Amino acid sequence: MRKRAHLLGIGAEIAALLLAATCAGCEEPATLLCPPCEEALRAAPRLGVTPRGMPVRAALPFEGVAARCIRRLKGDGETFLARPLGTALATVLAPVVRPTTWVVPVPTARSAYRRRGYRVPDLLIRRAHAEPQRLLSLAARTEDQRGLDMRAREANVRGTMRVRRSGEGAEVVVVDDVVTTGATFDEAARALESAGFRVVAAIALAATPRHGGFG
Ligand SMILES: [Zn+2]
Repeated sequence: MRKRAHLLGIGAEIAALLLAATCAGCEEPATLLCPPCEEALRAAPRLGVTPRGMPVRAALPFEGVAARCIRRLKGDGETFLARPLGTALATVLAPVVRPTTWVVPVPTARSAYRRRGYRVPDLLIRRAHAEPQRLLSLAARTEDQRGLDMRAREANVRGTMRVRRSGEGAEVVVVDDVVTTGATFDEAARALESAGFRVVAAIALAATPRHGGFG
């Protein structure tokens, strides 16, 4: 009896939490993600190019519902959003991954990992049913890219990544959550190629529409 009462208590707490929740995409009350917003997270692939001319495929535009959901995943710990967002990522990731391909997330700053308790690109890759291989690490302190223009972003990330092992020609797909100019992808490719990997694709969950020809 006590156990049942306890469970009822938990049920009521979950119900209260759900009632207090709002949709991550549109703030509609009493839901974590409403059906129209879930629909808006369906992949709408777009192609862009990095400053060094590497093509980047992104699953979603970084705007509207998708941008709000990604911000809540990155900033508010709403990790359940990695599931629908991972499904969108899979539509652009799966076609470029062969059994021998390494799927490599862009490295997460230690401070961001400490703050969140998870690495966003790695989590998204897992939810896209692939295995993240953390080959890249940040060699130096990298300033936050927000607020920097394209040229400053390139200078800011150049020489900041290290590779943990040699590639011997292995194929790599690099994955990030949001691509803005693509300077981070260029730096990841530079580091991986100098270690002997072959970068065959750059894949992002979302692309900002303003920069780098993404749109
Ligand atoms: Zn909604």
